[in-house]
Amino acid sequence: MKNRLSHRLQNLSYSQTISMSAKARYLKSKGYDIINLSLGEPDFLPPDFVLNASKKAIDDGYHYYTPVSGYSDLKEVICEKFYRDNNLRYNPSQIIVSTGAKQSIMNVLLSLLNKNDEVIIPSPYWVSYFQMVKFCESIPVIIQTSMDHHFKIQPEQLEKSITNKTKLFILSTPCNPTGSVYSYQELKELSKILQKYPNIMVLSDEIYEHIHYDKKHPTSIGIFSDIYPQVITVNGLSKSFSMTGWRIGYIGAPEWIVNSCDKIQGQMTSCTNSIAQRAAVSALKSCPSKIKYMIIEFKKRRNLVLDMMKEIHGFEFNKPKGAFYIFPNVSYFFGKTLHGKRIHNADELSELLLDQSQVATVSGSAFGNDNFLRISYASSEDKIIEAFTRIKSTLNI
Ligand code: PMP
Ligand code: GLU
Repeated sequence: MKNRLSHRLQNLSYSQTISMSAKARYLKSKGYDIINLSLGEPDFLPPDFVLNASKKAIDDGYHYYTPVSGYSDLKEVICEKFYRDNNLRYNPSQIIVSTGAKQSIMNVLLSLLNKNDEVIIPSPYWVSYFQMVKFCESIPVIIQTSMDHHFKIQPEQLEKSITNKTKLFILSTPCNPTGSVYSYQELKELSKILQKYPNIMVLSDEIYEHIHYDKKHPTSIGIFSDIYPQVITVNGLSKSFSMTGWRIGYIGAPEWIVNSCDKIQGQMTSCTNSIAQRAAVSALKSCPSKIKYMIIEFKKRRNLVLDMMKEIHGFEFNKPKGAFYIFPNVSYFFGKTLHGKRIHNADELSELLLDQSQVATVSGSAFGNDNFLRISYASSEDKIIEAFTRIKSTLNI
C-alpha cells in the first residue's frame, strides 16, 4: 500500500511534537499519571472578552463562508496590530488570515518553492519547517547554531549559506525550540546581508512575539526598510491568546505573495472559520496589556524551571528569553546505563523519561539536533515541580 502513496508523502514524517503529545494523551487515557511537557500549548483559558466575542458572533449569525483572505474588518485590525506592536506598516491587501500559522507558512512555501530550490533554516528549528520544505520538494539548508551564541546565527553563516538556488530564509524569533530572541542590532546585521539578495524572501515567524521576558519587545525584521519588500511576517493567536484550537494564523506580506496564498487557500479551505475570525477581531484589537497576566506567569515558570534544572546533574542549558521551552544539552547521559537501559541519544533519553518518570518531552532530533531535549513549561507550577522532581530522581541515580 505504502508505495501507492505519492513520493511527496512517502518523504513526509509525522510531526514529532504532535506524535509525542498524542502518545502522552493515550497513556493518560489508560490511567498512567503522565505529565505532558511535550506540546507547545499554553494551559490558560482564552481571555473572557474573546470568548464573549465568539458567543456573540454565533448569535449575530456569522455562520457562512467569509472572504477567502478573511473578514475585511479583521484585516484592518491586523494592520493596526502590526503598526501598534511591531511598527510595521501593512495595508489590508497585504494581509491574509489562515487556519493557523501552520497553514500560513505552508501557503507561503507552496507559493514560492520549486523542486530543488534551497531554503535556509537555522537549527535548532521548529519541527515543521524542515518537513514542509521537503514536502515542496525543495532543499532545507541547515545552519547550525550553538549555545555559546544563544542559538542565534551569525551574519557570516547566513552569507556563506546563500547560493543562486536560495529562495527563502526562515527565522523564528522568539524561537521555538530554543527560546532565543534576536535583538534589533542582530536583525539589522542579518538584514544588511539579505538586502544584497533582493530575490531571497524572508519568512519571519513571530508567533511567540508576546511571550518574552526582557522589557524590550522583540523586533520584527520587516522594520528594516531595505528588506521590507522581501519579508513575510507570520503571526497567530495560538500562543499569545492561548487559542491553539481556534486555528487563526495570518501574514503581512507583499501583495503578490498574499494574492498567491489567496489563490491556494481558495482551492484548499475556502476560508478560515468565521466564528474564530470574529473572536480574532476582539483579541487583536486589545492591547497587549490584556494578556500580560499570562506572560507574567510564564516568566515565573521559566525561572522555576531554571532553578529546578540546576538541581539535575548532566543538563547543560542557557536562559531562554522568550517562548515557553527550555532546550538542554543532554549528551552527558549518552553511553551511560540508566535503569538497565543504555542511552545513545536524546530519543532514547526522552523515551526513558516517559517510561520511568512518566514525563513527556520531545527529543532534539525533531528540531535538528539530537544532543538536546525540548521541555515545554506551558504547564502549571505544580506540574512543573512534580515533573522535574521525577526527572531528577530518574537521571541522578
Ligand atoms: N510556528 C511556530 C514556531 C510554532 O511553534 C507553531 C506551533 N504552534 C506554529 C508556527 C504553528 O502555530 P499554529 O498553526 O497553531 O498557529
Ligand atoms: N508548535 C507547537 C510545538 O512545537 C505545537 C505542535 C506543533 O504544531 O508542532 O509543540
